[in-house]
Amino acid sequence: MDNSHHLHLNLFNGQLIPRIGLGTWQCTPDEVKEAVNDALEAGYRHIDTAYLYQNEAAIGEVIQEWINSGKLKREELFITTKLPFTGNKPEKVEHFLKLSLENLKLDYVDLYLIHFPIGFRGEDDHDLFPRDENGRLILDFDSNMITLWKAMETQVEAGRAKAIGLSNFNSHQIERIVQTSRIKPANLQVEMHAYFQQKRLRAYCKKHDIVVCAYGPLGSKGRVDFSARFGVPKPQVPDVLDDPVVAEIANAHMKTSAQVLLRHLIQLNVVVIPKSVSQSRIRENYEVFDFVLTANEMEKLSQLDKNNRTFIFDEYDGVPDHPEYPFIIPY
Ligand code: NAP
Repeated sequence: MDNSHHLHLNLFNGQLIPRIGLGTWQCTPDEVKEAVNDALEAGYRHIDTAYLYQNEAAIGEVIQEWINSGKLKREELFITTKLPFTGNKPEKVEHFLKLSLENLKLDYVDLYLIHFPIGFRGEDDHDLFPRDENGRLILDFDSNMITLWKAMETQVEAGRAKAIGLSNFNSHQIERIVQTSRIKPANLQVEMHAYFQQKRLRAYCKKHDIVVCAYGPLGSKGRVDFSARFGVPKPQVPDVLDDPVVAEIANAHMKTSAQVLLRHLIQLNVVVIPKSVSQSRIRENYEVFDFVLTANEMEKLSQLDKNNRTFIFDEYDGVPDHPEYPFIIPY
């Protein structure tokens, strides 16, 4: 049954996850304060961040203001954050989650994700992209996903995370965790948009009752700035926002292309976390519950899939050659 007009999806543990959240990657602390405030005003109750984004403390300030002023209760919010790549060791999980909670000024997060299946060997909490004397990223070749996941489970039992999940894992890696877990992953966050619809991975997750969350749902055009910092060639970003089929469907509903792209994923039962720092676009991206795409329109959008993965993490040198590099198998 189509319940895409509902604002939430159910996680397997009974928790409700809002179908739309605010993405915050590449937002500076000042930008994110304004964006989170605008988003909460617009009705968003789900915020996606990560220790790596270095903006948790600013997000925490806004949340605290809203809660202290009585405008919001903690339980109305759904906050996701992620273990940094340098935290992919069982003994580091609690430490990094406690740092995130301190930043966010919260007692618990609603969802804690392992950000990436490959770990980096950092010297300290601030050394997020550790490099050796030759300037090469120091990758961890000894990490063990099973023991790492056990440390994640401990966080649920300790009440620091309501649910735990994965990001950028392929189906074989997820399977290893599902087979050995006491508390299974509730969520998988991966790249997904009209040109990269991940049909097989979605079907796999559905089988295991894992809710999928799409990052880069609008094509992540701001990613170009990020890659420039690493001195790698400009990534090819998918121009889904300019697609003529999307524009035609948008016109028919008097909506924008962004709204159609988000609505398409929502109707596929995928959670979306579009990032914006513009008040008008933050509002625009939330106005996706007052129209429904027809079966024919959904089919036209599904036909746009080009299996076009653009987040390949090649800005992190050596990562594509690591044995746990997730994107060498089809899904
Ligand atoms: P995205 O949400 O697909 O795209 C954001 C870009 O689109 C920004 O440049 C934004 O610019 C622009 N934009 C937003 N709304 C728009 C609209 N209505 N019309 C036109 N342009 C619009 O890309 P993303 O930030 O890469 O992904 C979303 C979130 O997913 C991230 O912020 C992060 O929270 C998460 N993420 C997670 C991972 C992971 O490894 N787990 C990786 C990437 C992203 P303005 O800000 O100027 O509006």
